[in-house]
Amino acid sequence: MLLLQNAHVVPGDGHPELPATDVLVRDGEIAAIGRGLDAPGAEVVDATGRVLIPGLVDTHRHVWQAPLRGIGPDMTLPDYFAAVLGRALVAYRPEDTNLAVRLGAAEALDAGVTTVLDWNNTPHVDAAAEAYQTLGMRAVIANDQLRTDLRGTLSAALAILGPEYGPADEAEAHLRRARDLGILVTMHLGGGRTPSAVSRMDEVGLLGPGVHLVHLNSVTPDEAKLLADTGAGVTVTPLVEELMGHGSSAYGRLADAGCRPALGVDVVVNSVPDLFEVMRATLRAERTRTAPLLPAARMLDAATIDGARAIGLADRIGTITVGKRADLVLLDGLAHLAGNGDCAGAVVTSLRPSDVDTVIVDGRIVKRAGRLIGVDLAELRASATEIAHRARDRGTFL
Ligand SMILES: [Zn+2]
Repeated sequence: MLLLQNAHVVPGDGHPELPATDVLVRDGEIAAIGRGLDAPGAEVVDATGRVLIPGLVDTHRHVWQAPLRGIGPDMTLPDYFAAVLGRALVAYRPEDTNLAVRLGAAEALDAGVTTVLDWNNTPHVDAAAEAYQTLGMRAVIANDQLRTDLRGTLSAALAILGPEYGPADEAEAHLRRARDLGILVTMHLGGGRTPSAVSRMDEVGLLGPGVHLVHLNSVTPDEAKLLADTGAGVTVTPLVEELMGHGSSAYGRLADAGCRPALGVDVVVNSVPDLFEVMRATLRAERTRTAPLLPAARMLDAATIDGARAIGLADRIGTITVGKRADLVLLDGLAHLAGNGDCAGAVVTSLRPSDVDTVIVDGRIVKRAGRLIGVDLAELRASATEIAHRARDRGTFL
């Protein structure tokens, strides 16, 4: 048992914030939320002056690329396809995927991301799964293998090329098969300036809650409405989309139509491994696009409960609610606000990964007092250098 004492709790999803509140975790689950909870025998964490938020949910990241951070500040999408997917990827052995995912998972956890939908392009799903288990991170591992054997904090999604990058009939067959098995299907869609395949997918009855679409920069208002009406999960990755020329973020168009878009880092070849900057970039874009000021706190929901919704995990994670799994993050830096006002908006506008004090996944503390437990991030980074160098030796980038 774990008792978080005297935290400023941000439950999420529009629920009022709870100053000076305790949260009790039992068997990996949030067992009670209230003031002055009594839990004999529980490990106590003094959360005085800290803000407790639901763990952040990154719904689209190619985690295996963690060793390649910053290799492509000026990469276009065709450059990326050629260098990263065309050449670096084929150099990955199972042990490289394991090391790369350990590095990527450690960087994500360090920044308060407790769940990731990892679009794992490598053929080494078992190596990735082992990495998440070692690090204690919740992950949906998306791959072109249809896996039904992942359990606990791990689950599988089917990653497909989709009707824009592969044959439409093949995409349809994959979608129908995964739907029968109850497995999430995720694909890139509408990530360019040409019309998206959303309408075509709707015509053949393929939109729905088990489908997760990423980017959607070219989505029209009518298509956004189709996505909202059918309950398809949607994710935007604004930093990478704008840097690589996909076009402006679809966040606002999707939200206007009634979708609850989630946020992803996507790739770190030209981006950062945390969601704080993604939240802020989206907030800035929305405040530039529309006259009424979008509340900053909306972005924290986008990075938590909306992420959980987009990938079918909202019954388990995404808010601080009794009965959900205990994925929780304690934040420093706002002690002056804790108890004196709402903190969710300030988390979005004014905090950064170094303010992440404690991270809990499924009831287990993986970061405490600002340091990951049992993981030496610097050592992981040093070990992974060889992966990037090997890619360079194949005549790619760097
Ligand atoms: Zn992607």
